[in-house]
Amino acid sequence: MTLSKRLYPGSAIGIIGGGQLGKMLAQSALRMGYKVIILDPSEDAPAKSTCHTFIQADFSDQEAMEKLASLSDVVTYEFENIDAHILHALTDNFYVPQGAETVLTLQNRSSEKDAIKASGAKVVPFENVHSKSDIENFAKTYDFPVIVKTKTGGYDGKGQYYIENQAVLEEENIPFEQADFIAEKYIDLEAEVSLTIARSTSGQVIHFPLQENLHRDQILYRTIAPSRFDYFEEAKKEAEKIMTHLHFIGVFTIEYFLSKDGVLYVNEIAPRPHNSGHHSIESCNISQFDAHILAITAARMPEVYQHQNAVMMNLLGQDLDRLENDLYDQAEWNVHIYGKTSRQPNRKMGHVTVLTDDLEAELKTLERKF
Ligand code: ADP
Ligand code: MG
Repeated sequence: MTLSKRLYPGSAIGIIGGGQLGKMLAQSALRMGYKVIILDPSEDAPAKSTCHTFIQADFSDQEAMEKLASLSDVVTYEFENIDAHILHALTDNFYVPQGAETVLTLQNRSSEKDAIKASGAKVVPFENVHSKSDIENFAKTYDFPVIVKTKTGGYDGKGQYYIENQAVLEEENIPFEQADFIAEKYIDLEAEVSLTIARSTSGQVIHFPLQENLHRDQILYRTIAPSRFDYFEEAKKEAEKIMTHLHFIGVFTIEYFLSKDGVLYVNEIAPRPHNSGHHSIESCNISQFDAHILAITAARMPEVYQHQNAVMMNLLGQDLDRLENDLYDQAEWNVHIYGKTSRQPNRKMGHVTVLTDDLEAELKTLERKF
């Protein structure tokens, strides 16, 4: 049964995590008149400045997590790696409409892919592997290249090993004794796309336009919305299968691989706002962050309407070094800087969204800058 509790402005929204996603969620909630309480371990978390109350504590600090919940009318999160024990303690005793089960399933690539497969949606062939010989056997069935990924804790390509052939496999040092891994067939990609969906506690579902994502070094580099690859209806169908199998509340994003032979595979699911949905802040009538707040407060959501084509470019540490003095004199650039104090290469420091009527020309201009 779906819990549905209409929460009106003035109510308090508790957010676990104060990174950029927590900050942009908080900004939406504040604009709508909610109180915001954030918990994050870092004393200079980006969202520290966008909340009424900031609790500085580890995500493993059960007492602090319960304090956040006790101050909040509804609890949500900006990331998926919450400890199962603490998550259950919260969902048993407080209003956490997203529940524990879905996020726990998605925390682990193996159970995530099992669930997607069980729903009938297409996934790339994968197997649990514990040794090099397991990978070798996998490659006997599916051929090289193979990509080996940690089951838990990976993001932006962290914990992944690209195994091009047998010789690379022999050379590679995969820490089997420190982590659990899956092997996955490496797909010759035509494109990557993603679909951001919001489902409210009252069961209403809305979709954002299909997003086309380009990664560099496995980190999202650029999103184009709507995607030039017209797979919206097919992506929606795959999403529906998954939604009958896994229970979603709030905003979530499904990442897909589009293979060169035109097959759409589900790659992974993020049960929270997603980097590829950031364009919606400027390009749509409501943003993914607005949609999440509406969904968890049981407010009626409008159908999504996109004003104009959008391109979103991530600003990583090295991009910010290069573009810092150039950012604000680009008349068309909507610049977001997250406020992280430590700038590092490949760390997401902000993003830029450009709305355009001439996509191809804009892509060329942006490619010269980034
Ligand atoms: P993360 O959790 O780090 O986002 P992903 O599985 O989404 O992990 O991998 C990150 C990126 O690496 C993908 O967006 C894609 O560009 C590339 N990649 C991962 N797996 C494959 C694969 N099986 N075939 C082709 N490219 C892949
Ligand atoms: Mg990914």
